[in-house]
Order: sequence, then C-alpha cells, then structure tokens
Amino acid sequence: MQATIYHEQVEALLRRLSVDHSGRTAIESILKRQEAGSYGEDTLRYWLTHLSPDEFHSIYYDVRLPLLNDSVVQIDALLLNEKYILLLEAKNLAGKNIFDLDHQQLVRIVDGVESGMPSPLTQADRQLAHFKNWLLEQGIQLPPMEALVVFTNRGAIIDFTDKSDPKVKRVVRVENLPWRVRDFANSCLEVVLSRRDLKLIEKAIVNQPPEQKKKVLRKFKIEQHELIRGVICPECGFAEMKRLPARWCCQRCSHTSKSAHLDALRDYELLIGEQITNRQLREWLLLSSADTARRILVGMGLKSGGADKNRYYCLESFKK
Ligand SMILES: [Zn+2]
Repeated sequence: MQATIYHEQVEALLRRLSVDHSGRTAIESILKRQEAGSYGEDTLRYWLTHLSPDEFHSIYYDVRLPLLNDSVVQIDALLLNEKYILLLEAKNLAGKNIFDLDHQQLVRIVDGVESGMPSPLTQADRQLAHFKNWLLEQGIQLPPMEALVVFTNRGAIIDFTDKSDPKVKRVVRVENLPWRVRDFANSCLEVVLSRRDLKLIEKAIVNQPPEQKKKVLRKFKIEQHELIRGVICPECGFAEMKRLPARWCCQRCSHTSKSAHLDALRDYELLIGEQITNRQLREWLLLSSADTARRILVGMGLKSGGADKNRYYCLESFKK
C-alpha cells in the first residue's frame, strides 16, 4: 500500500522528536496503528484476487470522494459493477472482538484487557450513507449496495451480543470474503447502472482529491522549537550533519552526502509548512550563510514568490 501523507507526517514527527520527549508514546502508538491498518489493506487486496476474472468487478482501493460540505468520504475498497456496489472497510484488529449491537460499540479483549471503541459497522453505515448521497447528487439511480466490515487479522475472534441480528452477515473474516462477495452478487440480478453511470463513478474515483496534510504539531500539542533541527545523517541517523563546500558531513560517522538536506526539507514541509524563506531554511538546517541557503533553494528549482526579504520558496514545487 502507498504510504499516506499522514503516515509520512507521523514518521517525520518521530524523527524530529528527541527519544525522551513526553509525546513520543502517543505518537508511536498511532504509527503502529497505521502500520497494522496498511497491513490489513494489503491482506484485503490479496484475498480479493481470489475472485475469478469472469466475476466482473472494477475494484478501487483507498477511495476518497468529496462531499458537498467539503468533507471527504474514505473507503478502503469499492467493488463496482453494473448490478451492485460493495464497500469494504478493513479492520486489522487482534484479540477478541464482540459487537455490542444494542450500543453500537465494539468491545475488545486483548491480552486480558477489555476496552471499547465505536462499532466499525456504524462507520461502514456512515460511509455507505455518504456514498449513496453522492450517487444521488450525480443523478445516479441507486443499485443494491452493501458495506461490509472485513477482519483482516487471522488471529482475531469475532462475536456478537445477538447472533440472530441481520447485521452479523455484514462482518466477514477476510478468508471468507470471496465467498461473501459471490453470495451478495448472486442476489443482484438486475442491471441498474448504465455505462454512463459507471464511467461517471470511475471518473470521480480516478480524479479523487489529493490527501491534505494535517496540522500535526497542533494535533499533538508540540511547539516548533521542540523539534530537532538540522540535517539528519542517512547512514547513522545522527543530527546534525555539518555543511562543507557543496556537501554535508556527519559529525559522528563521517558519511558525506550532497543531497541529505532534501529529506530535512521534506520533514519541514510535512511538519511546519509548504513555504520557506531563506532565513527559515537557515534556522531549520542550522546554516549560518545566507548565500549557501540561497544556493540550496535555487539548486532545488523551487517556485518562489514575494520580493527581497519576504521572498519565499514553495517546497511543494520540488520535483525529485
Ligand atoms: Zn552519520
């Protein structure tokens, strides 16, 4: 799976916080959750390849559709054909997971510790409702649709407070997914979506809006001055590398690099902002010379704006 921008931001934040920073534990647990989630999505993809090619589907992953109220609906996988649409929400949760259907919550028991979280079924319902609204906004007649929650962790135990509730069928273990998709497909015999409808949906999915960066410093209540500044050595991870003519040199392992500042500036872009001035660059890379800073900025071919002292450069415009 492609790393999301948010994942990159969390990684950058951990790189730039000292090992004894009090915020690390919370951020590390988010990173772990992201990695488990991305493993879950890979497993989902693997099992969807078990659908034979004659069971026609277009399958889209990480679908993001813009809504009228400026928010975005995010769907892990979407199966589309002329007779139905299926939305899949992957959950890579270990331990025992009990769906409390009365209270719309998931009770989790992991290593003997019990905790609760909002029900993934409610989340899936919300995505389905948003997606239906979006289809209606496009003037598309609704085909049969369902949103399934797929458990991708093979060690997970799934249970329900009421096993006779019809919602039970909407929670699937990943290895049973191909069978469950076929089951649903067999109940949808009528062609509902026209070629035009399918094209319209596909076009919206392919042209999905790019993921926006989050304000991670604010989110984790970290001040900019708490971040480790400087160019980090790609060999040994030491901050900071020292600037020599036309290259960087690690003060710990003596590794030299001509381009190590690019990673540091990517961190700046992910954590602080997409625009940088000569002065901000010097502060971030711990450089004393404005000339060297200018050479670095010009050398990266960045688009710039403003004049004289207010001149700023757009880090986003850097093409690797
Ligand atoms: Zn080094």
